[in-house]
Amino acid sequence: MKTVSSLLNEEWYHRYKTISKLNIRSSIYDVTNRCNLRCKGCFFFSSGEHEAAREEMDIRKWEDFIDGEMARGVNLAILIGGEPTLCLDRVEAFYKRLPTFCATNGLIKVQRDRFPDMMVGISLWGDEADEKTLRGKDTFSISSKHYAGDPHAYYLYTLTTKQIGKTERLVKKIRDAGLKVHMQLLSNDEGVDQFFWGEEQLKDIRDEMDQMLDYYPDTVISSKYYHRIITTGKMLDRPFGWNECPSVTEPLDRRSPGPKRLIGFIRWASDLKTMHRCCTSETRDCSTCKDGAAHMSWVMVNKRAHIRSERDLQNWIEVYEMFAKLYQFIPW
Ligand code: SF4
Ligand code: SF4
Repeated sequence: MKTVSSLLNEEWYHRYKTISKLNIRSSIYDVTNRCNLRCKGCFFFSSGEHEAAREEMDIRKWEDFIDGEMARGVNLAILIGGEPTLCLDRVEAFYKRLPTFCATNGLIKVQRDRFPDMMVGISLWGDEADEKTLRGKDTFSISSKHYAGDPHAYYLYTLTTKQIGKTERLVKKIRDAGLKVHMQLLSNDEGVDQFFWGEEQLKDIRDEMDQMLDYYPDTVISSKYYHRIITTGKMLDRPFGWNECPSVTEPLDRRSPGPKRLIGFIRWASDLKTMHRCCTSETRDCSTCKDGAAHMSWVMVNKRAHIRSERDLQNWIEVYEMFAKLYQFIPW
């Protein structure tokens, strides 16, 4: 019988043991329904999730709610929105209690005297021209000044079809700002013209992501297996989609038989009562979903399926390590 120890040499086994201790239990929180941008293709606004619930304004209710989340075993709070930095008292309520990751567009600086080591993921949707087209603003010129050299921040670079052949320039700019970058793909929830992925474009962007990882291994936090999975939508010949997705809110998950999934995962709306279907858009077609976190979680919950060859298991370890670095469970 194949076992983890029989497939790995000493070095890989050590890496495996390091991550297997982590036992990450995450959930996602809409901190606010508001944002200081309105990006074309933002799943939150395009699916009407900003109107799904009325924001809870009482900070004590947020504090009690977070205590309840910890009591049910959550040990990683992923804050999204809307723009969480519009409500820093709510962000602080999470940060004071448990490991917290804050997604942001970077226009408002998270003050490090108040949040010394909170991991911040700064969204970036392309070069200056594409950011202006999709987000109405070149956010990098602002966010890179706010976070240059920050060891607890990285860019979450959403790749679009327009970025093919152009990623290196941005990766270098991020490196020169003393920051890291992780790449994912735009799902194009609002059907913005010319931003749809075709098969050839997915092949091209996969090659380019692999190259960036080879050329800039100290800047790019990623894995080639992850690139393969998000560009092909396949893992071990199984197609991604509703029947496989691990990031469905557990109390709403009626799938039978249920797939391997994130234990206890809930995506909460900002009223602290309403639950959204999954980690991303309520209205998105799962067959075209390119959500990066859902794909990496898909790999992570399917460890057993990867215990079939040395390379498969190493791939699994690399994706798990990537996740653990992005959420600060292990160092870069
Ligand atoms: S900054 Fe983020 S939350 Fe705000 S509109 Fe853009 S994608 Fe949506
Ligand atoms: S839209 Fe994506 S993340 Fe949401 S349930 Fe479908 S596949 Fe999963």
